[in-house]
Amino acid sequence: MISTNNQQKSFLIIGGGITGLMAGTILQRHGINVTILDKGRGIGGRLATRRIRQPSSGQGIFDYGAQFFTVSDPTFQLWVDQWVQQGIITPWSNQLTETGTICYRGCDSNRSIAQYLAQNLEIHTQTRVTKIVWDGSQWRVETEQEKLFYGTRLILTPPVPQSLALLEDSAIAIPSLLKHRLAQVSYHPCLSVLALLDHKSLIPEPGGLRLKDASLAWIASNYQKGISPEGFAITLHSTPEFSQAYWDVDNEVVVEKLLKIASPWLNASVIDYQVHRWRYSHPKTVYGDLYLVLEEPGLLIMAGDGFSTTKAQDISLNLEKSMLSALAASHYCLNLEANTL
Ligand SMILES: Cc1cc2nc3c(=O)[nH]c(=O)nc-3n(C[C@H](O)[C@H](O)[C@H](O)COP(=O)(O)OP(=O)(O)OC[C@H]3O[C@@H](n4cnc5c(N)ncnc54)[C@H](O)[C@@H]3O)c2cc1C
Repeated sequence: MISTNNQQKSFLIIGGGITGLMAGTILQRHGINVTILDKGRGIGGRLATRRIRQPSSGQGIFDYGAQFFTVSDPTFQLWVDQWVQQGIITPWSNQLTETGTICYRGCDSNRSIAQYLAQNLEIHTQTRVTKIVWDGSQWRVETEQEKLFYGTRLILTPPVPQSLALLEDSAIAIPSLLKHRLAQVSYHPCLSVLALLDHKSLIPEPGGLRLKDASLAWIASNYQKGISPEGFAITLHSTPEFSQAYWDVDNEVVVEKLLKIASPWLNASVIDYQVHRWRYSHPKTVYGDLYLVLEEPGLLIMAGDGFSTTKAQDISLNLEKSMLSALAASHYCLNLEANTL
């Protein structure tokens, strides 16, 4: 039986990653009611952090999605400066990019940025949206958990192919030109290996290394990074080519191959490991605008890192893409609300 969440909400946001959380924060600060729904066990989306506990060696804490981010936009820089002042993020290093740009990371972990933004927001996790329906005056959102949510406005922030699939499953018509543009937005896959070592690795300061290898793109020590004080936790990210080729291959094979390439920097045995498969890690091709508005059948906005005006491929600018999309989309919404009062 489907139960009903009776509380009527103005804005429903699907996705509790940085885009959804930022849009929610801005709208709520302007007095708008916001509810965020996310299918994940926790919030953060690709700002992902996980623990592996081992009695013998202490727990390892791993950032296994976004590793760090850089800033090129002055408005985003203002937010970043505030977060630094508030102790949420910290500069990590300027040695991780070829241009010597400052790279930032969450002080406790990258997920802690999401946790900070989420503090005062109404968020329902483990809530997978399966269908959206416009009932003539508001959106009705159906979920796998058989709860209904209502809102007069809807913001979709999952990776574009997931949002497109949801619209298709919901039989929401999209003008063909827009649909064609949305279908062009694509993402690289990435295989993430989280490995707990019995000794400190040989990864040089500052604890992260971008490689020019055909299979292994990145290796990081979460211990040296400062987020895993008890455990020698390392994160490996495969290249898009390797991820594609090994997507369906057993974890053991993936781990063996990637650890072998990483071995010059390890100097240790692996106590435990996990593998996470990111089908949509970061955009390969973007939409070309910061957000998309569909006015029919009801007002629906799409935003996220797939919505960007920059073709820059630097992975460390992806978080900024999400932020800029969230900022632009929420300002559009605020103007709209101001004009409809
Ligand atoms: C391995 C990896 C490495 C990366 N490295 C970097 C880096 O070093 N620097 C950088 O700047 N960026 C990096 N990125 C990219 C960065 O993490 C993303 O650009 C950013 O976090 C995207 O945020 P978002 O909110 O737009 O999307 P997401 O974080 O993907 O949030 C979307 C949310 O929607 C939810 N969702 C999807 N479908 C549904 C549904 N049907 N119902 C309910 N909820 C749903 C998901 O659970 C998710 O939480 C990396 C990403 C990965 C995966």
